Amino acid sequence: EASPVTVAVTGAAGQIGYALLFRIASGAMLGPDTRVRLRLLEVPSAVRAAEGTALELSDCAFALLDSVDVTDSPATAFDGAEVALLVGARPRGAGMERAELLEANAGIFGPQGRAINDNAADGVRVLVVGNPANTNALIAAASAPDVPRERFTAMTRLDHNRAVAQLAAKLGCAVTDVDGVTIWGNHSASQYPDLTNATAGGQPVPSLVGQDWIESEFIPRVARRGAEIIDVRGASSAASAASAAIDHVRDWVRGTPDRWTSAGVASDGSYGVPEGLVSSFPVRSVDGRWEVVQGLPVPEFSRERIDASVAELAAERDAVRELGLL
Ligand code: NDP
Repeated sequence: EASPVTVAVTGAAGQIGYALLFRIASGAMLGPDTRVRLRLLEVPSAVRAAEGTALELSDCAFALLDSVDVTDSPATAFDGAEVALLVGARPRGAGMERAELLEANAGIFGPQGRAINDNAADGVRVLVVGNPANTNALIAAASAPDVPRERFTAMTRLDHNRAVAQLAAKLGCAVTDVDGVTIWGNHSASQYPDLTNATAGGQPVPSLVGQDWIESEFIPRVARRGAEIIDVRGASSAASAASAAIDHVRDWVRGTPDRWTSAGVASDGSYGVPEGLVSSFPVRSVDGRWEVVQGLPVPEFSRERIDASVAELAAERDAVRELGLL
């Protein structure tokens, strides 16, 4: 029998962590034949709460769950990790400046990147969920010089899934009929959910829904869905974020045979996105690597929106550089 895969989850006692861990342990992420060794990382004040979650994981008697360890040491959490889900982050406090937020998170993701560099398995795959996710991934990657940059990714899959679901609802089709949806840029309100190349049941989407719906309803709805959830649910989205994290890692490990998706990956300069920025692109997972879907038309409407979100990413990177953190 194959040895279990070590999966590290940070911020394990948080809302997303609680929605994520049970699905990983049930096999939803790595499949029904892969045993999992969970490592939960928390800040010291939340270690006890994470231990409570570990007790519940034990009580599920999951057939695929080999063990659960809880720690406040990044070196221990990432030791031998093949998958690292970086969920814990410093939330934006009231009146907090962007530079303060970036600095506080660099203080988390820099050391975690180093700990991954020094302790994780050679083929480690890292997904950053904690916000500002793209720039946190950039910082972690820069702190892990021995790990290929392509192994550090940021989650825009929730935005992608929201876009697919909104489109399917509009057209009255199944989500599985939809292909070619792209989220570009930053996981923030500046993101660009793009339907230019989308199809539904093989039909081009733009002519089915019209540019007016795309501009006045679809794009703002997707970009502001997080706020809508908070308004309606009274708490931020957690289970849908966890589900998107599962989708991202599952597709990365097992491939996307039939359709493309969106992920924040280190830019190779494709589509005019400056090299090195962790930006969302249309991607396929082939042979265990994310590949940017090449050669797509980028009309002027898209170009402006991609450029605006990428400019925000560049500004975040520059702010982190000015703080001497990159
Ligand atoms: P959540 O579990 O709800 O969220 C965790 C992070 O995910 C936040 O940065 C959040 O960003 C982000 N996120 C990304 N996408 C989404 C989305 N679609 N919806 C909601 N959140 C999203 O936060 P909690 O406060 O419940 O828990 C955080 C935990 O992390 C705490 O237990 C804390 O102790 C821990 N922590 C652990 C660290 C570590 O392990 N070293 C370091 C720092 C914190 P946003 O804030 O923008 O919603």
